[in-house]
Amino acid sequence: MHMDEIRRELASIISAVKTRIDMEKRFGVDTITLSKPNKVTSLSLPNAVTQIETIETHVAKKPIGGKITVPTVEANGRSPDDALKTSGDQTSMSEKEQKIKLLEELRKEMMSCHKCPLGKTRTNLVFGVGNPMARLMFVGEAPGRDEDLQGEPFVGRAGQLLTKIIEAIGLKRSDVYIANVLKCRPPGNRNPLPEEIVLCMPYLIKQIELIQPKVLCALGTFAAQTLLNTKAPVGTLRGKFHEYKGIPMMITYHPAYLLRNPNDKAKVWDDMKKVRDFLNEF
Ligand code: SF4
Repeated sequence: MHMDEIRRELASIISAVKTRIDMEKRFGVDTITLSKPNKVTSLSLPNAVTQIETIETHVAKKPIGGKITVPTVEANGRSPDDALKTSGDQTSMSEKEQKIKLLEELRKEMMSCHKCPLGKTRTNLVFGVGNPMARLMFVGEAPGRDEDLQGEPFVGRAGQLLTKIIEAIGLKRSDVYIANVLKCRPPGNRNPLPEEIVLCMPYLIKQIELIQPKVLCALGTFAAQTLLNTKAPVGTLRGKFHEYKGIPMMITYHPAYLLRNPNDKAKVWDDMKKVRDFLNEF
């Protein structure tokens, strides 16, 4: 391989490593795990950043056609050469594969959660479902009976209506991501308690940070009030874009409410057309 090609290849690997580190930082991770055959080591993110910046500087300085050697920076007993090879292995994963991996790690972490009493009464924890690269993410309230039994959000009658709403704006259910504020079913489908929301909310925050949707859509009172930190009724919040941590967020009625109040379907259709138009412009 020509030396210029090697340099371009190295620059591409370095860029991919930096993207991975940035994603880990945004996800709140402070160490990364690097694996080689028969060996797994951990590296703090500051150390990883220092290493990759040192290597990047070194590669950039080399004259075209010159011999490339990697600098001798040691961390956790590994040479930078090891770091490049290992990082190259890791960053061969696409962004989608990385998100799938991190979502799965989060799901595993949550499976044993008993931070609130709902952990004792659930049949299944309901994590979230959909496209990890989704541009549109829906946030509902909490699992109901069907969701608790199947371990998936929005699978009952309200879920079927949500699927229709999604299809009405030209998307498939598999295009979007769907999650709830609470991951375990409140007994008898009672309303979530404030303390349950406080304890469970960090999981939803991590899911949103990981998915990084272009638009959020909060379904119903609890999702809207929780994400906007307000007590305002959903009827006054719906129909316009708000913002959650810089992400535009539409508020609309929950599909379960629509099953009881079908006359308000037109309002939800109006809200969803705004979401569709926003996504089309983006
Ligand atoms: S509702 Fe949330 S905080 Fe409570 S046990 Fe389930 S996952 Fe944990």
